[in-house]
Amino acid sequence: MNGGETLDFEIRPHLSPVAAEERSALMANPGFGRIFTDHMVTVRYADGKGWYDARVEQRAPIPMDPATAVLHYAQEVFEGLKAYRTVDGGVTLFRPDANAARFRASAQRMAMAPVPERLFLDALEALIRVDREWVPNDPEGSLYLRPFQYASEVFLGVKPSSEYLFLVIASPVGSYFKGGVKPVNVWVSRDYTRAATGGTGAAKCGGNYAASLVAQAEAIEHGCDQVVFLDAVEQKYVEELGGMNVFFVFDDGSIVTPPLTGTILPGITRESVIRLARDGGLTVREELYSYEQWRADAVSGRLREAFACGTAAVITPIGVVRDREGEFTVADGKAGQTTMSLRDTLVGIQRGQFDDPYGWVHR
Ligand code: PMP
Repeated sequence: MNGGETLDFEIRPHLSPVAAEERSALMANPGFGRIFTDHMVTVRYADGKGWYDARVEQRAPIPMDPATAVLHYAQEVFEGLKAYRTVDGGVTLFRPDANAARFRASAQRMAMAPVPERLFLDALEALIRVDREWVPNDPEGSLYLRPFQYASEVFLGVKPSSEYLFLVIASPVGSYFKGGVKPVNVWVSRDYTRAATGGTGAAKCGGNYAASLVAQAEAIEHGCDQVVFLDAVEQKYVEELGGMNVFFVFDDGSIVTPPLTGTILPGITRESVIRLARDGGLTVREELYSYEQWRADAVSGRLREAFACGTAAVITPIGVVRDREGEFTVADGKAGQTTMSLRDTLVGIQRGQFDDPYGWVHR
């Protein structure tokens, strides 16, 4: 099974969807991840039967037996991507095929039956078609899509589940940065790491995020927005943030980002930034970069900019870098020119304001 298969979706419209007026009120100030559309996609899987029973139905709680495997052994994977409203009223997705491929790879790492890529893409389209009124018109807003899959077999044995449920839910979200892009402060965790070699760092599984929460809480306690993880072996090299990849921009115009060694998430924004930077004439190196070097380069001025990137905030400048021994600032602590120019290009392509020579935008 390489991802080419799909199913017909049975559409069961919500009998009492949110009224237009209430929907507009909810969408005026949606925040992140608390407001949801009327519908959801559900698709079932059973060993021997494959994927079946694809539906778009009323969004509702999913009844679960207390012995459902995911509740005990966390066999679960997810994705996150955004649907954007275009100026002509259409709806686009940014590189959904890359999310489909990563979803399969995550599932395979967790010994789960992978969702065929075609089925994943059709599920997104089926949901957006039914809930299209929920895609914000606001040029800063978007509809965040959350596909996920979990082990639904009722069994306490420690083994791969023989049944899965694949769902897609959607949530309108507002601008990540109200009042313009602001640099984030980051906390470098010295007590916790995120993923070891051979572990699940490259998979988008819930367990990785559960394990990151104490470190993220420590970041907040120290006045930082995000946590930076170092490698699990030497606690020396920068890996990634709790939910974003990281880039460094030097005074010779070159850019460095940590390589995909299996311990970090292969971000779709990361890959897009590498492509845009190279096509813009910059040298991008995927290589190990130590925390000590980061500090030294910030102090010497060799490091001009640092930024984080991911679906939620696209590209975010990094200002202050703090750990339990002290802190330093990247350049003047403000958003740098390369960071903002890459951001403008990427946002412009995503929102359909610029041409898309890469075929990234999916209508
Ligand atoms: N790293 C982690 C740990 C993440 O959760 C995310 C968000 N998915 C990213 C990086 C960025 O990935 P993407 O650009 O695909 O959103």
